[in-house]
Amino acid sequence: MASVKLTNVKKIYGKNTVAVHDFNLDIADKEFIVFVGPSGCGKSTTLRMIAGLEDISEGTVEIDGRVVNDLLPKDRGIAMVFQNYALYPHLTVFENMAFSLRLKKVDNDEIYKRVTEAAEVLGITEYLTRRPRELSGGQRQRVAIGRAMVRDSKVFLMDEPLSNLDAKLRNQMRAEIILLRKKINTTFIYVTHDQTEAMTLGDRIVIMKDGYIMQVGSPSQVFEMPDNLFVAEFIGAPKMNTVHTALELEDGKYYVSPFGVKMPVDGDKGEALKEKGVEAQDIILGVRPEHITLSNSKNPCAVPCQIRVNEMMGSELHLHVTTPTDEPLVIRVPTVDILPNQLAALVPGVRIYVTFRSKVMHFFNAQSELNLLTMPDSTEEATTKESPAETDEQVQPENK
Ligand code: ADP
Repeated sequence: MASVKLTNVKKIYGKNTVAVHDFNLDIADKEFIVFVGPSGCGKSTTLRMIAGLEDISEGTVEIDGRVVNDLLPKDRGIAMVFQNYALYPHLTVFENMAFSLRLKKVDNDEIYKRVTEAAEVLGITEYLTRRPRELSGGQRQRVAIGRAMVRDSKVFLMDEPLSNLDAKLRNQMRAEIILLRKKINTTFIYVTHDQTEAMTLGDRIVIMKDGYIMQVGSPSQVFEMPDNLFVAEFIGAPKMNTVHTALELEDGKYYVSPFGVKMPVDGDKGEALKEKGVEAQDIILGVRPEHITLSNSKNPCAVPCQIRVNEMMGSELHLHVTTPTDEPLVIRVPTVDILPNQLAALVPGVRIYVTFRSKVMHFFNAQSELNLLTMPDSTEEATTKESPAETDEQVQPENK
C-alpha cells in the first residue's frame, strides 16, 4: 500500500520565488500519476518535495497517511529515477543495482535474489556483468529503474526518465514503462514536459503552469473537456485551433460565428450550454485540427479557406490555411480517407471548404479563459474564488 497526499503544499525559493503554490492532490495506491507542463512550471520541485530532496515551505506531504515532511529521503519508502541515470561507471550492472542493498547490509543471498529477479523483469539479465559504458541508453535506463526496484519501494518517482533518449528509443521505452508498470505493482509519480508521454502513461495527469495546477484528470477528460484554454492548447498535437468570436443566444438557441461564418451550436453541446444557463458573451472557440473535415461550397456552415502550407506526414496531411477573417487554421486530414487524386490537389493556393460539428467545439470565456461548461457557476464562484496573490493570471488553481 502506498497512497500519497499533498495538502496545501507550497515551495518558496529564497525570499520570494514561489515555485509551487498551494498544491493539493490525493494519489491512490498503485496509481500512475504524471505531472506535466512547460519548463519551469514546478513539476520537479513538487516531485523533489515528495522525495525529500527539497524542503517543503508550507503544507504537508503524507505517504500512507503518515506526514513525511521531516523524514529523510531514505526513510520515506520511495525510489527515484532521474534523467541522467547516475550509474556508477566503475561498477557492473549487478553491483549498480545491488549498491543500496549493500549499504543497508542486506545479506548476499537476498541481494542476489532481488537483483536477479529485477533484472529478469527488466530483461537485462544478460548484461549483469557489463559496465554502464557497454550499454545502450535504453539499457542504462533499465538499470536505473532496476536499482530503484530492488529497494522494494512503495512509491516510484521518475523525473523525465526518457528525455535523454532519441525519439525512437523514447517510444520504445514508453511502451516498456507501460508493461513494467503492470509487473511492478506500485505507485508511480512521473514528471515530463511531453504531453504525449503524459497521455500514454498516466492514469491521471496533473497539468501545471507557473506553479499552479491547471487541471487534474484522466487523459480522456483533459483532452475532451479541458477546464481552461491553457490545458486545451497544451494537450493534443497539432495544438487546438482557437478563434475569438461571440456566443449568441437567439430564441433559446446558441450560435457562434467563427471566421465570419455563422453556425448553430446544437446537439449535446447546445444542450449542455442551455442546462448550465450560459449567457451570450465573447468567447474563444476551440476546435482540434483532427475534428475539422473537408466539405464543399454547398454547405452553408462551411468555412471557405485557402491552403497556405501542406505538410505531408504520411498517414495524415496537415493543412495550414487562411480564413475569411485572416485567422489561421490547421486541419489534420487522414490520408486513408481521401482518393489519391484529391490528395494531390490539396496544395498551396487552392481554395477549400471545411466544417466542424458542434460536438467538437470547445467554448472558453474570452477574459478568464475558463471552459464555459466546467467553470464554477457565478454563485459558486463568489464563495470559492481565491485569487492567487503573486500573479494576475485569470485561471484559477484547480484541485479535483
Ligand atoms: P520544472 O520541473 O517544471 O521545469 P522546476 O520545478 O525545476 O520546474 O522549477 C520551478 C521554478 O522554480 C522555476 O521558476 C525555477 O527557476 C525555480 N527554481 C527551481 N529550483 C530552484 C532553486 N534551487 N533556487 C531558486 N529557484 C529555483
